[in-house]
Amino acid sequence: MGGLAAAAALRRVGIDVTVYEQAAQFARIGAGIQIGCNAMKVLREFGLEARLRAQSFYPRSWNNRDWRTGAVKFDMIFGESAEQRFGAPYLLAHRGDLHAALASTVPDQCVKLSYKLVGLDEISDGVRLTFANGATAVADAVVGADGVHSVVRDRLFGTSPVNYTGRIAYRTTYPAALLGGQQIDDCTKWWGEDRHIVIYYVKPDRSEIYLVTSQPEPEFRIESWSAKGDVGELRRAFAGFDRQVETVLAACPDVHKWAIVDRESLVRWTEGNVTLLGDACHPMTPYMAQGAAMAIEDAAVLSRCLDGTDRDGIATAFRRFEASRKERTSRVQQTSRANIWLREKTDTDWVYGYDAWTVPLAA
Ligand SMILES: Cc1cc2nc3c(=O)[nH]c(=O)nc-3n(C[C@H](O)[C@H](O)[C@H](O)COP(=O)(O)OP(=O)(O)OC[C@H]3O[C@@H](n4cnc5c(N)ncnc54)[C@H](O)[C@@H]3O)c2cc1C
Repeated sequence: MGGLAAAAALRRVGIDVTVYEQAAQFARIGAGIQIGCNAMKVLREFGLEARLRAQSFYPRSWNNRDWRTGAVKFDMIFGESAEQRFGAPYLLAHRGDLHAALASTVPDQCVKLSYKLVGLDEISDGVRLTFANGATAVADAVVGADGVHSVVRDRLFGTSPVNYTGRIAYRTTYPAALLGGQQIDDCTKWWGEDRHIVIYYVKPDRSEIYLVTSQPEPEFRIESWSAKGDVGELRRAFAGFDRQVETVLAACPDVHKWAIVDRESLVRWTEGNVTLLGDACHPMTPYMAQGAAMAIEDAAVLSRCLDGTDRDGIATAFRRFEASRKERTSRVQQTSRANIWLREKTDTDWVYGYDAWTVPLAA
């Protein structure tokens, strides 16, 4: 997400980019993603607003309910009023649709698949990249948007262990027709005592549904988009939850399982002509649905810092980028970790009101 967003943003200010991706192809992973108004303001400038509106669900409000009684704890009002207030819509998308939209902004010849980075050295005329397939490349600058297990971060600053939170997420998308006509809310987080489940539609016609949970399971440490979970265990873990939850889980055919991790904020993101972006430098728990949004905001701010900069100014521009972004991303990391976002009336202006295109840059 962050790498493609950065490529789109940098191309917009006339910078040549190449995206190196370890995967052999982009696969459509079964997951939903909330596109906050703050992320939408960035995506709009990439020309993606109409496409994402057409492909995503447009919620009128986001409900937070008690797991057993169904009592409403807090309704976060979205729809037109939030769109006016924050300057862009809040959308619920299929992750694959957002990814494909971002990929559509970057010409195929700029994306090199099956390029797994294994080495990185600053040399006199740039930064040399070494890949597992034997290829090498020299670039003026490198943006490490390689996720929570970032090789670029490890090469720059050494390895720090990932923080396993002791919790796991089950998640999946499936056709809503499997609900057999049973009615459920459009989007709700069901708050339990030590666990929660989030359920929402990811298509405008409510044809596809997404669920994601969080619950304790300290022994499970696999963090992979392809690791499967046991639907029976998932149903048992949420037994006694509201009828809607039981309905959605009863119809659920298949599920993925994912260890939830985060990291402490890094002291630095930048070294010379190399910087980090997205989960590589500020991974977070998913409880604010802002991880990808932060990576997308990073992309816009990075492009503003690099706009008009020559090769000699890259290191300074990268430091400015880091200085412009660190306070906000650290705050979101910390707030996300607490897992209280929207549980009750919450000040959301500082998150959704942010505009990465106009926010003042650090001096
Ligand atoms: C359960 C769950 C739900 C979430 N829900 C939301 C949500 O609703 N809204 C939201 O905004 N965020 C959400 N997030 C967070 C979001 O998924 C991440 O923050 C986001 O994907 C980070 O983007 P990124 O580009 O930094 O990293 P990634 O998406 O992890 O991308 C990193 C890329 O780098 C590639 N890569 C890694 N190593 C190498 C290498 N050595 N060489 C080459 N390529 C490499 C990877 O293959 C991958 O393509 C959720 C996360 C989880 C776990």
